[in-house]
Amino acid sequence: MSRSLFTLDLAAIRHNARVLLGVLGGAELWAVVKADAYGHGAADVARAALDAGATALCVATAGEAEAIRPAAQGARVIVMGPSSPADVVLARELGAEIVVADGATPVPEGIPVHLKLDTGMGRWGLAELPALGRDVVGLMSHFASADSDPAFTRLQTARFLEATAPHAHLTRHLANSAGALRFPEARLDAARCGIALYGISPFHGDAADDGLRPALRWESEVVQVRRLAPGDGTGYGRRFVAVAATWIGLVPVGYADGFRRDLTGTEVLVEGRRRRIVGTVSMDVVAVELESAVPVGAPVTLVGDGITIEEHARVAGTIGYEIACGFTSRGPRAQRQVTDG
Ligand SMILES: *Cc1c(COP(=O)(O)O)cnc(C)c1O
Repeated sequence: MSRSLFTLDLAAIRHNARVLLGVLGGAELWAVVKADAYGHGAADVARAALDAGATALCVATAGEAEAIRPAAQGARVIVMGPSSPADVVLARELGAEIVVADGATPVPEGIPVHLKLDTGMGRWGLAELPALGRDVVGLMSHFASADSDPAFTRLQTARFLEATAPHAHLTRHLANSAGALRFPEARLDAARCGIALYGISPFHGDAADDGLRPALRWESEVVQVRRLAPGDGTGYGRRFVAVAATWIGLVPVGYADGFRRDLTGTEVLVEGRRRRIVGTVSMDVVAVELESAVPVGAPVTLVGDGITIEEHARVAGTIGYEIACGFTSRGPRAQRQVTDG
C-alpha cells in the first residue's frame, strides 16, 4: 500500500442524504460541498448526494463552482461566499447562482441571486433587505450556534421569518445540518447541509444518534516496530519517554497528511485494537504505543471502524469540520478510492 489510503463510501453519503431528506419533511436538501466536500472529494460526494435526492450544490467560491460543474448533472450550483466582479462573470458563464451579503455593492444582474440577511451571525449578511430586483431567487441567513444554543437559534429564525414574510414566494433557506436536524421551524424551503452529509455529528457527539453513517475511512500500516528501553524517547522533543520497556509502531502519516500535531494521545486501531498515539506527531510519521510486537504491515485504522473524526477533534480541541478539511487525501502522499456500500 502507499503510505495511506482514504476510502469514501458513496452508499454512506446517499444514506445520510436520505436521512436528512427524511427529517426535512418536504424541504429541499442542498448539499454543501465546499472545501472539496470537507476533504471527502467534492465530485464524488456531489454525484452521490444528487443521486439520493439533493437538488442543489453549495460551494464557497466561483472557482469551486467551476470545479464541481461537471459533477452537477445540471443541478443548481450556489456560490455562498462573496463574489468579486470577476467571480460574478465566471459564475454567470457557469450558470451558477450567487449570494449577495454586502449592501455596499449593487446587486449584479443577469444571474440568479440569493440575498443573505444577518440575523445574528455577525459576519456576512445584510442588515435589511433592499428592494428586490427580478434576479433575486432566494433569501437566506446562517445560524451562529444551532449546535449549542437553541434560544439564540430560535431568535435568529424568528428574525428571518419576520424579515422575509412578505417574500414567501422566493426560496427561503436558513438551516445548516444542526438546524435541519433539531429545529423544524427552520427547515423552510431548503436546508444547506454539509457536515451531516458526511456522517459527522454537527453536535460534536455521536453521528449515529441521528442515524448518520461516517463516509470516510483512513487506513495505513505499521512500517517499523521498535522496542524502547526505559529512558528511551520517540520523536521530536522527547515528549514520550518510556518508563518501562515499551513496544512502539511507526505509522507513515503525519501532520502533512492531516494527522494534526495536536492529536498526540488520540487512539487508532492496530490490528483492530485501540492503541494510543504517543510522542510528537511529525510531518510524515506518528508513533503508536503497542502492547507487544506486531508484524511490519500490521493494519492501522486512523478513521473508521468506530474511530471517529469527532473523537480526534475532541483530543485536538477542535471540531470535526476542521479535522476533515485538513485531510490531504490526494496527490503523491496518499491513495484515494471510492466504494459503494
Ligand atoms: C458551510 C455552510 C453550511 C453548511 O453547514 P454544516 O454545518 O456543515 O451543515 C450552510 N450554510 C452556509 C452559509 C455555510 O457557509
